[in-house]
Amino acid sequence: MLLAHKIALDPNVAQRIYFAQAAGTARFAYNWALAEWKRQYKAGEKPNDVGLRRQLNAIKRAQFPWMFDVTKCAVQEAIIDLGTAFRAFFEKRGRYPRFKRKNDQPSFCAANEVGTFRTDGKRIKLPVIGWVRMREEVRFSGPLKRVTVSRDGDRWFASIMVETDDVKPVVQPEPVVGVDLGVTTLATLSTGETIEGPKSHTAALKRLRRANKALACKRRFSANWRKQKSRLARIHARITNVRRDATHKLTTRLAKTYKTIGIEDLNVKGMASNRHLSRAVMDGGFFEFRRQLDYKTRFYGSRLGVANRWYPSSKTCSCCGVIKETLALSQRIFHCDDCGFEAPRDVNAALNLARLAASSAVTACGEPRSGAGRKPRVKRGSAKQEEKNVILEAA
Ligand SMILES: [Zn+2]
Repeated sequence: MLLAHKIALDPNVAQRIYFAQAAGTARFAYNWALAEWKRQYKAGEKPNDVGLRRQLNAIKRAQFPWMFDVTKCAVQEAIIDLGTAFRAFFEKRGRYPRFKRKNDQPSFCAANEVGTFRTDGKRIKLPVIGWVRMREEVRFSGPLKRVTVSRDGDRWFASIMVETDDVKPVVQPEPVVGVDLGVTTLATLSTGETIEGPKSHTAALKRLRRANKALACKRRFSANWRKQKSRLARIHARITNVRRDATHKLTTRLAKTYKTIGIEDLNVKGMASNRHLSRAVMDGGFFEFRRQLDYKTRFYGSRLGVANRWYPSSKTCSCCGVIKETLALSQRIFHCDDCGFEAPRDVNAALNLARLAASSAVTACGEPRSGAGRKPRVKRGSAKQEEKNVILEAA
């Protein structure tokens, strides 16, 4: 499997300047190729990334000689990325590619075809600039496929893609768990356990608001404005890091403890009801959670069951399977009118996800295998005993 390992770099001043230069060149190449793509498409041609790379290579020396100051990979890979973005768009997985702006996260890539880069313990040798210190070693063994150097806040990172056969199967002591991702808490498990979000998060949000206000007072593009902007970027980076750390700890624990883990396809509740966190942060957190669980379950030999996005995990009674017509978001306790079952709302949802994952009605990619995910009541007779067992074990 392909795993990306993102490692903080410790570049010197010359290397920092080079990184910024290479990232700028990559951005230029990407935007040039996108503009050219649009032009060719309008002219009735069929643009593609291979053709555009060839085209740029032909005019590079005459028109953009400064491109030779940085690794040619930066230009090449930027156009390959554009091709990937267009493929995602055609396959309806992504939006139409947009021009990269100077304020976007700067980055450039290098592919490892003929030993373009390599690592040696806590150092990485990048094309042109040479050895750059890393904060840690690559943790996985296997050939290094590609490196992306990017800036986050004021730090540079190398995300190294490794093709690895490393797996560390562990024997998970517990059979199944359902995880309901929360709005105010990080997650609720079907065992009834609530995992609080990181505490420093709320403190950082306060600082973020203050820094945002301070930025608004500064004259745009002035020296103080720039300083404040980098301060703001650091707070953003910190919030992301704290949150990601908490997510990492939780996903590792889940993948090592439970044989089967049930989650939802989309965090619909979070999207509908969160006024305090920006939607982007919430969504980002959710996708990051799922991404981590996805590779960690494969890594540790457990199984991930994803309920499809129409599965009414909150409205279904985890005891008898009756689906409520309506359930207000403010209602924190789930009460079933049919069987009298009562549980905290999030625990009820988590129990449903656990049951669904245990019944194997869903595959890892979130598609129902036999329609059972959408019609939870069809197989009541035989499934009920199993459900009960699962719930008992999980509780
Ligand atoms: Zn019920």
